[in-house]
Amino acid sequence: MSNASLFERAQQSIPGGVNSPVRAFRAVGGTPRFIARAEGAYLWDAEGKRYIDYIGSWGPMILGHGHPAVLEAVQKAVREGFSFGAPTEREIELAEEILKLVPSAQQVRLVSSGTEAAMSAIRLARGFTGRPKLIKFEGCYHGHADALLVKAGSGLATFGHPTSAGVPPEVVQHTIVLPFNDIAALEQAFETHGTELACVMIEPIAGNMNFVRTQVPFMRRLRELCTEHRALLVFDEVMTGFRVALGGAQSVYAKAIPGFAPDLSVFGKVIGGGMPLAAFAGPREVMRHLAPLGPVYQAGTLSGNPVATACGLETLRQIQRPGFFEALTASTRTLVDGLVAAARDAGVPLVGDSEGGMFGFFFADALPQDYNVVMATDKERFNRFFHAMLDRGVYLAPALYEAGFVSAAHTAADIEATIEAAREALRS
Ligand code: PMP
Repeated sequence: MSNASLFERAQQSIPGGVNSPVRAFRAVGGTPRFIARAEGAYLWDAEGKRYIDYIGSWGPMILGHGHPAVLEAVQKAVREGFSFGAPTEREIELAEEILKLVPSAQQVRLVSSGTEAAMSAIRLARGFTGRPKLIKFEGCYHGHADALLVKAGSGLATFGHPTSAGVPPEVVQHTIVLPFNDIAALEQAFETHGTELACVMIEPIAGNMNFVRTQVPFMRRLRELCTEHRALLVFDEVMTGFRVALGGAQSVYAKAIPGFAPDLSVFGKVIGGGMPLAAFAGPREVMRHLAPLGPVYQAGTLSGNPVATACGLETLRQIQRPGFFEALTASTRTLVDGLVAAARDAGVPLVGDSEGGMFGFFFADALPQDYNVVMATDKERFNRFFHAMLDRGVYLAPALYEAGFVSAAHTAADIEATIEAAREALRS
């Protein structure tokens, strides 16, 4: 079956032929690849063509596809039952595992998607503080809940609708959107709205405008201002959690800022290992405001699903093996260094950055620090590069606003083949 015929058929029954917009290749043009199967670092499309996968289901597949221990855990769980709608011991085990790795949190609630986790964390922050307003940053995506769908990156950047239709202005009247990494704008916003602010939500290393770090002085000031004004600092670690380091981006910033910790954390992707699972977590004092203990309501038919928790738990166990993050960090860095070197040799301006197993690169002379600069980088060149790489069997994210992911299944030979493909692509 050809990708083109599947795409044509898909468009009859599914809007745009896809169940999540960026998959449609709208930004880069061409036909999306319909994936037939995956193993290790590779995907095979419906035409039998193999690709080295740098999307990893947009982050979850940190061990690569079909890791034997994870497969075994999932198969065992499936035989025991798909879903009970009642508590299980495995949920406790997963909660304990998460809390062991995230010292800023004492309790965690499991949900099924990053959207749900971020939306629920906002409700909890509002319920806990009794305040209405929240700050988010341009280019940060926190899922598609109404209050957060303002100047979000990711697909919204790709399709040129920075804010979604269908979200009435009254619904987002309490959402304040600030430029990323801008201390003066932050101070101004706290001065104006400080007493009404429930929380500030941020992607500490933004992965929905490619890859943009918060600078340390900005993060330090953000933490100070939140504490001073008793607003909660909410880290959206859906992408960075258990991905940039075992302890997530918060552990990276805690190294640079002594005593640093967010108030609430939102997780997804890696904690489910490829199954629908996400979570939000924080101190007991805040988390006890959730139903059934407190007045903030939140629930889910499939929350803590036994198959998803089996998959997530085994994934979290695997990434704690000695040397895991050292090796993942090294191969990701080798990839980025190789891309930069290949571009330099071809006389093409390209910069890149990575942390743990997450990376980004831009056709630009310097790493962007905010959304506007990301938007101004060379889109046409990215699109040509994307297709040249795809033709050579390398599957990068089909939009320049997305971060990339390396897995533990990517071998030195895979990375080398990718860099060689990039050399050819950049020369052409
Ligand atoms: N937050 C961040 C930082 C994300 O990257 C994403 C998804 N890419 C989400 C939230 C939403 O997660 P989901 O797609 O699972 O709803």
